[in-house]
Amino acid sequence: MASNGSDAVASNGSDAVASNGSDPATGAYGRSAPATDLVNPATGLVVATVPATSAAQTDAAIDRAARAYGSWRQVAPGDRARLLRRFAAQVDAHLEELAELEVRNSGHTIGNARWEAGNVRDVLDYYAGAPERLVGRQIPVAGGLDVTFHEPLGVVGVIVPWNFPMPIAAWGFAPALAAGNTVVLKPAELTPLTAIRLAELALDAGLPPDVLTVLPGRGSVVGEAIVAHPAVRKICFTGSTEVGTRIMAGCAAQVKRLTLELGGKSANLVFADAALERAAATAPYAVFDNAGQDCCARSRILVQRPVYDRFLELLEPAVRAFRVEDPALETAEMGPLISAGHRTSVSSFVDGAEVAFTGSCPEGPGFWYAPTVLLARSPAERHWRQEIFGPVVSVLPFDDEAEALALANDTEYGLSGSIWTRDVGRAIRVARGVESGNLSVNSHSSVRYWTPFGGMKRSGLGRELGPDALHAFTDVKNVFIGTDG
Ligand code: NAP
Ligand code: MG
Repeated sequence: MASNGSDAVASNGSDAVASNGSDPATGAYGRSAPATDLVNPATGLVVATVPATSAAQTDAAIDRAARAYGSWRQVAPGDRARLLRRFAAQVDAHLEELAELEVRNSGHTIGNARWEAGNVRDVLDYYAGAPERLVGRQIPVAGGLDVTFHEPLGVVGVIVPWNFPMPIAAWGFAPALAAGNTVVLKPAELTPLTAIRLAELALDAGLPPDVLTVLPGRGSVVGEAIVAHPAVRKICFTGSTEVGTRIMAGCAAQVKRLTLELGGKSANLVFADAALERAAATAPYAVFDNAGQDCCARSRILVQRPVYDRFLELLEPAVRAFRVEDPALETAEMGPLISAGHRTSVSSFVDGAEVAFTGSCPEGPGFWYAPTVLLARSPAERHWRQEIFGPVVSVLPFDDEAEALALANDTEYGLSGSIWTRDVGRAIRVARGVESGNLSVNSHSSVRYWTPFGGMKRSGLGRELGPDALHAFTDVKNVFIGTDG
């Protein structure tokens, strides 16, 4: 059944691309697009082959999305809401299929992958409530009536990384569609299968053709064509700070609207008065979940000196017990890394560093890496400063609140973080002091679709999710209607 699923998606995916795109032989770039072999990171075996969209095919798909926008924005709010709820119901009905697809393509644990597909459903349901509530204002002025409208922008380009293919796609497309935009979505080259399937489910739900188009392919081809096309009025990008910076420059040329969700090096601050057992037991989940390939990973643990040794004593058994195994198993807590290349990059941070202890991982094929705890000898160390994006955490002691804040903020990033203390005043002071977009106290939660998500400093620009995200997919229009004569 597993292989049937991936075969079906691969062939559907290629049909979708072929029928959506212009003839590659006659396209502006004059050559047919290469195909990408997709590898199961747990086995190293090819699970599907998906053709890569060419630049000419991308332009043609954007032109179709621009035409579809003309009618999609006219769909009555109640009908648009109903279509999004039906899309959510389709996702719910195919939740297990989507989850299994993500396990095979991305190596996510089956438990995580179910949550991710469920998150797509929930985000669609949440923003399905928006079209009927996208209200403007009536502003008192002299000589007439003044009203504001939240107008959709046009075509929105959503560019997604490989670490959370389903949720990050939905955080872009659900509010964009709800606000009346059409969407072209570029999944990461390595992980397009669930996005391709979601676009099929959107059609099955009754969304018109070209309202949500998925364009698998390379960032340097499809991504750049989306950024460059003038009909694309907004880019919603999640990925590395390096690529995000380039995309921002590309958008500047057209004053294109932009949301960026970029990297992180978030701190987990453990004060001496914390519930230490719970802080230590939960710390591995806050960084090793999704094999550490999480922009919100709390990859720097700061521990107040009086409890530093005790914290490490408690952390060690929790790390050793962390279940790294075949991600399809119900018991798996962590699967493999996404690729062999990424594993080489992760291990380069551990070479020469002081390893406190490690967990375990399977031998043999697949891109496995054991959870690893490093002791930072100083905040200048490379593993303390740079985003590793793998199951590696660095630990450093601190003396007082002021030093904790200074160390936490000594980074170009500012995405998330955790604060463990029983002192309410300190929790609030530190939460206000840490320069991050998403903080949790005595908890490690970052993402709740009801609440705003995004980064400060070089972790990003703008916010996704929550009640305000919708407005990031609209422009305010002010209309004055004179009543004098
Ligand atoms: P990435 O290399 O920046 O790629 C992200 C997406 O951009 C991919 O679809 C990629 O396509 C595409 N892309 C690459 N070059 C492009 C270009 N010149 N123009 C337009 N698009 C281009 O990031 P990644 O390696 O996939 O993901 C890891 C990074 O993402 C980490 O740094 C992590 O922190 C960050 N991240 C942040 C968040 C957040 O919410 N803040 C969430 C997840 C990940 P290809 O697949 O072809 O490369
Ligand atoms: Mg990349």
